[in-house]
Amino acid sequence: MTGTGRVLVLHVGGTIGMVASPQGYRPAPGFPERLRQALHATGGQGLPAFDVRELDPIDSAELRPRDWAVMAQALVDHWDRYDGFVLLHGTDTMAWSASALSFLLRGLDKPVVFTGSQIPMSEPRSDGLGNVENALRLAALPALREVTLCFGRHLLRGNRARKLATAQFDAFEAPNALPLAELGIDIHLHRDRLWPATGPRRFAVPTFDDEAVAVLALHPGMSGAAVDALLAPPGVRGLVLLSYGAGNVPANHQGFMAALARAAARGVVLVNVTQCLHGSVQQGAYATGSALGALGAVPAGDMTPEAAFAKLHVLLASTDDADAVRRGMGESWCGEMGL
Ligand code: ASP
Repeated sequence: MTGTGRVLVLHVGGTIGMVASPQGYRPAPGFPERLRQALHATGGQGLPAFDVRELDPIDSAELRPRDWAVMAQALVDHWDRYDGFVLLHGTDTMAWSASALSFLLRGLDKPVVFTGSQIPMSEPRSDGLGNVENALRLAALPALREVTLCFGRHLLRGNRARKLATAQFDAFEAPNALPLAELGIDIHLHRDRLWPATGPRRFAVPTFDDEAVAVLALHPGMSGAAVDALLAPPGVRGLVLLSYGAGNVPANHQGFMAALARAAARGVVLVNVTQCLHGSVQQGAYATGSALGALGAVPAGDMTPEAAFAKLHVLLASTDDADAVRRGMGESWCGEMGL
């Protein structure tokens, strides 16, 4: 399966363009040229025409929410000149960035495909070139009008993807969604699973406050003081609470609940995301979940922690109205929640 058109490849960083150093792999200059040469050496059969540009490449472990705005703006600036976009990004935070861009580029009418690699392209047995070739082909398919993540044998919806393996070539899965394409001998696109075109472009690139969202991974015995400490910075306006099972917390632990209540009273938006890989938050299923509902926490359904975190950031960067943020978190914008 091939498409036509011109694709912009944006190199953001990650293992794919890194080189070895005494401290381990690190970003290095000159990757766009190395990539052009490597793709040229394949003969380029079936690949769309493409240009390569580079942001200041980073290890994606260094990424901050403000970097999402830089990436999104780079795409918006080139939107009308290209038919599709590939972002070469580190795997560590690729799922966060793919989620964030899906929320910043709502109503997009062209493919945006994230990819990267587990082994640098400068090393033997690299998975980088194959991933880029697949991503380029996918970015030339006009039917794909969403932010996606292409890695190993699958194309996933970006805001459904999670990095689940440190060392496998198939590093990503979408625990609560089916793949959008199988990347085998043929590229098999599941057209019935693609996000339908849903109205006009609503691109927005707000200014992010990197500290606006905190994440709390609940564990047995968590103290109220730990919650207070996490939420103490005045810039924190949202909390992704990684709860147990169907969305439960220790409702009888007064210190813990009082700390959450203090946060809610201060205007912090609480979002209830399950620690489970599969399934959905059902906040009223247990009394231990209803207690969160009583504090105004928004159940995040089957959203991934990465998607919930990115969406909360995008909403908080876009409005000061906490009710509008809660409403936004409860809606499915571009397939991030079960339909
Ligand atoms: N630390 C690297 C990064 O996320 C890992 C990778 O790209 O696979 O940039």
